[in-house]
Amino acid sequence: MKTIQFSQWIAQLSILNPEQRDQLRSRLSGAGDLPLDVIKAPSRCPHCQSRERRSWGSSGDLPRYRCKACAKTSNALTSTPMARLRKRHRWQDYAEALTQSLSVRKAATHCGVSKNTAFLWRHRFLSRIADHQAQHASGIVEADETFFLESFKGQRDLPRPPRKRGGSAKRRGLSAEQIPVLVVRDRSGQQADFKLEKLDARHVGERLRPLVDADAILCTDSAGVYAHFAKAEGITHRPVNPSQKRRVDGAFHIQNVNAYDSRLKNWMMPFHGVATKYLTHYLGWRRLLERYKARLNPLICLGESLGYTNVQQLTET
Ligand SMILES: [Zn+2]
Repeated sequence: MKTIQFSQWIAQLSILNPEQRDQLRSRLSGAGDLPLDVIKAPSRCPHCQSRERRSWGSSGDLPRYRCKACAKTSNALTSTPMARLRKRHRWQDYAEALTQSLSVRKAATHCGVSKNTAFLWRHRFLSRIADHQAQHASGIVEADETFFLESFKGQRDLPRPPRKRGGSAKRRGLSAEQIPVLVVRDRSGQQADFKLEKLDARHVGERLRPLVDADAILCTDSAGVYAHFAKAEGITHRPVNPSQKRRVDGAFHIQNVNAYDSRLKNWMMPFHGVATKYLTHYLGWRRLLERYKARLNPLICLGESLGYTNVQQLTET
């Protein structure tokens, strides 16, 4: 670029808005934009599910489409939790923060965004991730319940006086302050977990019925809710004696699900108690980490945040 052109170009910097400055800074520092090939256009119109669409210019840096059936326009982010989120050039860094389980504060620093943005992004990024879990469990299926302290963290109007950070329940075991989560895992690593309204036969049955294959062998502690479900559905049930919970009866044990539970609880500890309304997001986050283990990278995470199943192929090029 000639010197005179460069001076003119530099003079233009004063009219950039904060977001444009931010993008420029990121480009100069070598951090690229979000790789757009990760963002795939869905094959259907997000408004009416019609497949009849045609190209309709672009919105920002994403191609836009217009539906022939409903005449509405959309891009690849329409109807995803990521629609209208700004600073797209920071998303990959944020996905990286998720793969590293960074706190909101550290994620904010990592991406150069405010703490509020980092918090908003956490839950936007986790929304589809939380939906991604096993639809079927087969073979030997372990099921067990675990509990999380109810938390109104971040809510202004507490229905009860606040507890000290983290805190502990007034009563041990099951009480109104404990939120039950049902964890199901088969031996191929297929896993699902559910925040339950109540730990009873109805709620457990509702979750297990579509999940557990009819010819599966269900291993649980001997809690009545599981026996009730297995009997009603004609599924083989191998209860593990609670006093021997740690002992292994051949292949019939619940050690995988128990080990998962302790990894989950240890991982959650640095978050100092999670708001109950976001509990499913954290459960999904942990499943994401377990699903990919060392293979997890920011692009996979981003693909999962956009709701793509089979994100593996995104990175295998
Ligand atoms: Zn349409």
